[in-house]
Parts: sequence; structure tokens; C-alpha cells
Amino acid sequence: MFDNLSEKLGGILDRLTGRGSLSEADVDAAMREIRRALLEADVALEVVRSFTEKVREQAVGATVVKSVKPGQMVVKIVNDELIAMLGSDSQAIDLNAVAPVPIMMVGLQGSGKTTTTAKLARRMTQRDKRKVLMASLDVYRPAAMEQLAVLGRDLEIDTLPIVVGQKPQDIARRAMEAGRLGGYDVVLLDTAGRTTLDEDMMSEAAEIKAAANPHEVLLVADSLTGQDAVNLARAFDERVGLTGIVLTRIDGDGRGGAALSMRAVTGKPIKLMGTGEKTDALEDFHPSRIAGRILGMGDVVSLVEKAASTLDAEKAAAAVEKMRKGKFDLADMREQLEQMTKMGGIGGLMGMMPGISKMKNQIAAAGVDDKVLKRQVAIIDSMTREERKNPDILKASRKKRIAAGAGIKVEDVNKLLKMHRNMADMMKAVGRGKGGPMAGLAQA
Ligand code: GDP
Repeated sequence: MFDNLSEKLGGILDRLTGRGSLSEADVDAAMREIRRALLEADVALEVVRSFTEKVREQAVGATVVKSVKPGQMVVKIVNDELIAMLGSDSQAIDLNAVAPVPIMMVGLQGSGKTTTTAKLARRMTQRDKRKVLMASLDVYRPAAMEQLAVLGRDLEIDTLPIVVGQKPQDIARRAMEAGRLGGYDVVLLDTAGRTTLDEDMMSEAAEIKAAANPHEVLLVADSLTGQDAVNLARAFDERVGLTGIVLTRIDGDGRGGAALSMRAVTGKPIKLMGTGEKTDALEDFHPSRIAGRILGMGDVVSLVEKAASTLDAEKAAAAVEKMRKGKFDLADMREQLEQMTKMGGIGGLMGMMPGISKMKNQIAAAGVDDKVLKRQVAIIDSMTREERKNPDILKASRKKRIAAGAGIKVEDVNKLLKMHRNMADMMKAVGRGKGGPMAGLAQA
């Protein structure tokens, strides 16, 4: 899986990383190639669109980090967006419920449902030390029931005794009863699949769900079927309700489209993946690892991460040094205001600082909102370098010029200067260990 896509993306990004500079046109050209590669990998069109749009936006607006080439930055952006597309964090099967916890497996015939049921039972028994009961609800194919019984015997995991002539929902009830009486932790319900998506299968699954009230409903989907698997997931989720997805045959040579669009299209997490026929071939689905496997550029990604964190550390150290010296000019103030805007404006910043909510009213009364932040940046931008460095030279005529440049009144320039003085005092206080970080703002 992913081989072809990996090769294509690798080629596109390799060409970018070699370049010293990137224009918007370069980014656009790369995005077109990435778009084509994803579509060829059978990723859903809507997912491709939103992915390339997000990457493009960030790539064009990316801050250039010292010691990192623009192309390397793009690799990191692609990597992060791939992870987001795959669901960010890995999600485990949730067993947090009263035992026996019912888990229902649904999916088409041949998708790997019975095998996955056995794989999951094996992992829960051997790794998690749970007592597991497996039950086949496939009343249409006696061979399917027998298949689960054989797997159970091999793995020394209990299966519900077969009673001929019972309806699937009655077997589900019997399984839960046996689970309670036998002191099991988990009951795995392997339902019957059909060869195609049909209403009978859906309504039967809905009835079983009503009877057993499963804590997890997992769709087992064959990743080799690409977008069909995604459509299946959407239909099952609408009709029955899913809590997660297991993608099988990740070891096959599929194009990867199902794995890549499943999460974004259905909103349901891929919890596990089947990587072989044997009962130990089951793995957690880790978005970051999958993205790493697809891009194969882990070294570039970690290089950018390291450079970005060094940059932040360098900036922080420089800021502390300035504070210690009591130096805080208008250029520094501009940087602080930008930082605030980046962190989600005043609201975002306040949410991140414990104990700051008290000051909310004060700040609101001072008229400092996100629009004001932007305006203040604009005022500072209308100044000369010299003025930013040395605000004391700002006399009436200069103030008039600045006000005209920023399209505001002289009064607003005065307000900004007052706010700067307050912030500078606050910075000094912080440098000496006094006062909150927003103290200057509150008095502005
Ligand atoms: P069911 O009809 O949905 O219960 O499907 P089965 O569990 O019987 O699986 C159908 C076939 O797919 C069997 O031959 C399994 O060994 C095989 N299979 C299941 N999962 C995987 C997997 O992750 N990788 C591979 N290579 N084969 C699998």
C-alpha cells in the first residue's frame, strides 16, 4: 500500500527541497502535481481539494525559519496536513464500560470480518489480559460460524456454542447473557455480511445493535476496494452508526485512497489495520507513522521541527535579554502584538493564561480587541525605523504624518504610545519578576 503515492510525492517534494527559494508559482505548480498524485491514489476529490488548499495557504504564508530551505518547510507542512487528514491521534478500542463490553463487527462478506474478530480477540486476550467471548451471528453461512469456532479453538478463545435456527438478534442476546454468566470482559459479535451493500444487511445490523447495545460498532473494510470502502462506511454510519473503522489488507498493493480519505469523509476514526492473514497481523492505526511511511522524509520533518524550536528559543532568549535591560522599543511591541494575533488574538491569549479572566473586563473597557491589535500594528508600520527604535523623537509633525499614513487620528497615535510606555514598564517589571503579562495592556 502507498508505494506508488509515496514515490510520486517523494519526487515532487525532492525537487522542491533542493531549491533555494520558492515563488507562489512554484508552490502552485507543486500543488497541482500533489493533487494529481492524490487523485491517482484514489483519494476522494473533496479530500484532495481541501488538502491542497490548506497546504497551499500555509506554504505561501509560511514564516521562513533560519537554516531551513523553503522546500523543506513545505515538506513539513505536507506531513502535518497528511497527519491531520488521517485523524491526528491514534484511537484505541474503548473498553471503558460495564463488563461484558459488547463490540459489534460489521462489513461486507470477504472484507476480513471474521479474521479481524479473531485478531482482536487474540490481542485482547494475550496483550490486554481480558477474558473474551466470540460469537458468530452469520445465520446464512454455517461455514462462517464454523470458521470462527475453528479460529477460537486454535487461539484457545471461547466461542458461543452454535444453536441452529436462531435469529441474529437472539444470538446477540444469548451471547451477552453468556458473557454475563461466564464473567467475560468483552463479547465480540461477528455479524453476517453480504457481497454488496444492501438494505437487508443494514436493517439486520440495526436490529442487532438495538438488541446488544454495543459499546463499539466497528466497520471492517477492505482497503483494496478504495472509494467503495469509503462509501460503504458512510452508508453504514448513517444507517447503523459506527464508532470506528478497521481497514484490512493494508499489506496489499492498494493505492491507499481508502485509508487516506476514510477519516475526512466519514469523520470516524480508523482504529486498527489488518496487515496480513495471520491472527497476529493487526496493528493500531497511527496517523503520524502512516504519514511518515507515505512521505519517507522523516529526516526533513524532524530537521524543520528542530529548527523551528531553536528559533523560538532564540527569540525568547533575545526577548528576555531585552526585558532584563529594560529595552522595549516599538519594533518589539509590534512583534508582541503580532504574536498575540497569531495565538488567536486577545481571546485566545487569555484562554491560555490561568488567572487572566479577571482582567477580561478591564481589557474590554480599555477597548483592546483584535481589531485594535491589527490597527496598532498598522500604526507602527507607518513609522520609520528610527522612530520605532526611539519613540521619544515622535513630536507633533511626525505624529501627523504617521496618522495620515495609517488612516487614523493623531489621538490614536498618542494612545499607542501610551500603551507602549505601559508595556515597556510592564516588561521591566516582568524582568524583575513583577506584574502579569497583560498588565500594560490593561492600563492602555
Ligand atoms: P469475512 O467474510 O468478512 O468474515 O472475511 P474473512 O475474515 O473470512 O476474510 C477473507 C479473507 O481475507 C481470508 O482469506 C483472510 O485470511 C483474508 N484477510 C483478512 N484480513 C486480511 C489482511 O489484513 N490482510 C490480508 N492479506 N488478508 C486478510
